[in-house]
Amino acid sequence: MEEFQIKNSKIIILKGDITEMNTDAIVNSANPSLMGGGGVDGAIHRKGGPKILEECRKIREKEYPNGLPIGHAVITTGGNLKAKYVIHTVGPIWRGGKYEEAKLLYQAYYNSLKIAVSKGIKTIAFPSISTGAYGYPIEEASIIALKAIKEFLEKEDFIEKVFIVLYKDRDYEVYKEVAEKILK
Ligand code: ADP
Repeated sequence: MEEFQIKNSKIIILKGDITEMNTDAIVNSANPSLMGGGGVDGAIHRKGGPKILEECRKIREKEYPNGLPIGHAVITTGGNLKAKYVIHTVGPIWRGGKYEEAKLLYQAYYNSLKIAVSKGIKTIAFPSISTGAYGYPIEEASIIALKAIKEFLEKEDFIEKVFIVLYKDRDYEVYKEVAEKILK
């Protein structure tokens, strides 16, 4: 575990399973359908139970009939998870880097933090968005993730702790190395 201070807030990088986090919120790397999927999305819905999916279905119906756009975020309760809320965001699919992937990935983090503040959330955990099935190279993605979180916390220090939970050893090592450069 590595901890970095950004003004009055902390960014904590750790290896683990995000579905086990007892933060106020965890972030789901969803797809536009909001109807579940593989990877971290599948794990969250499996452990969180059907209530989360039901809330997602209602959000689709009322607000996003065509799906949640990339870079946007919505919030549901945490169902059976330890976390009180799940924030669902959609990262970009990596298509070589010339299709605004960096901007969209930045927005996914930034908008997730914005919606967290609007709900009074003080502790939140992120997975590494877009670096699984969506193919975003881990090093580039970690730079964007850490920059987005840092820049948000510099403007808005309501959130006390932002965890980044890496599932794979190598991802954890990359994030730690990049954080040493960007956050110190
Ligand atoms: P995406 O479509 O955004 O690429 P994935 O779920 O395929 O989403 O992968 C995103 C990241 O989540 C990957 O780095 C993957 O290793 C990680 N991951 C998968 N399961 C978990 C979990 N239970 N907790 C934290 N991270 C996870």
